[in-house]
Amino acid sequence: MLTNYHTHSTFCDGKSTIEETVLSAIEKGFRVLGFSGHGYTDFDDRYCMQDTEGYIAEVLRVKEKYKDKIEILLGIEEDIRQPVDRGRYDYIIGSSHYSFSGERFYDVDGSPEGLEKGIAAWGDPLSYAEDYYKNFCEYILRRKPDIIGHFDLLTKFDEHLGGGFAAMPEYRELSLRYAKIAAGAKCVFEVNTGAIARGWRTTPYPGEDILHALKCEDAKIMLNTDCHHADNLTCHRDEALALIKDVGFTELYHLTGGEWVKERI
Ligand SMILES: [Zn+2]
Ligand SMILES: [Zn+2]
Repeated sequence: MLTNYHTHSTFCDGKSTIEETVLSAIEKGFRVLGFSGHGYTDFDDRYCMQDTEGYIAEVLRVKEKYKDKIEILLGIEEDIRQPVDRGRYDYIIGSSHYSFSGERFYDVDGSPEGLEKGIAAWGDPLSYAEDYYKNFCEYILRRKPDIIGHFDLLTKFDEHLGGGFAAMPEYRELSLRYAKIAAGAKCVFEVNTGAIARGWRTTPYPGEDILHALKCEDAKIMLNTDCHHADNLTCHRDEALALIKDVGFTELYHLTGGEWVKERI
């Protein structure tokens, strides 16, 4: 069943309009397409939506216009540092894109150089990772977002950096410990192929060892492409699905008709 719930558009840092993306989804045979523009972050306006009202109006417009062809959902990707008005959306994706040291913020996924600056501010990668996951998990347990976005985003540049976090046994132990904590919130984790589409990774988030840990915790998962261009709606979906099955998952979750349904894979 083709669905995608992590979809950006020209209202934030996506390259396609909402309607272009809808038309691409219809052509590809999608059953459900959920939009998830980056919620406004007042400390950094480079990636987020400036016109949230315009975004909501446009998603609702296409939802009505194409209602006989596809189910369109109004979601949002909320950064943990700036909660949105949840009642306005069909679902929220909870994501952590920043680390804060006092008033100063470091974006985790903007560039390898930016990540390295953040690590330098904490002094070492493990302290940085501990702070990242601690804040993220506190948010997850308190807020219980419908979907947990790219849980181990800070490994985005691992391949580029020739090993990075995932090459450190202490990091792996730490990330698995926090994955188990996050699983306790009983939210749906996304398996996200967005960094593959952008050439940074060859495998999806979360990494395979975290996926195994989530399987052990009986966590629910879904598959999203974190789409920033209409052509990429199905990008690396098949490979990710094969990995998910290899790990031992037998079900994927989808939000449709106002409720979560599971699909046997
Ligand atoms: Zn994100
Ligand atoms: Zn995103």
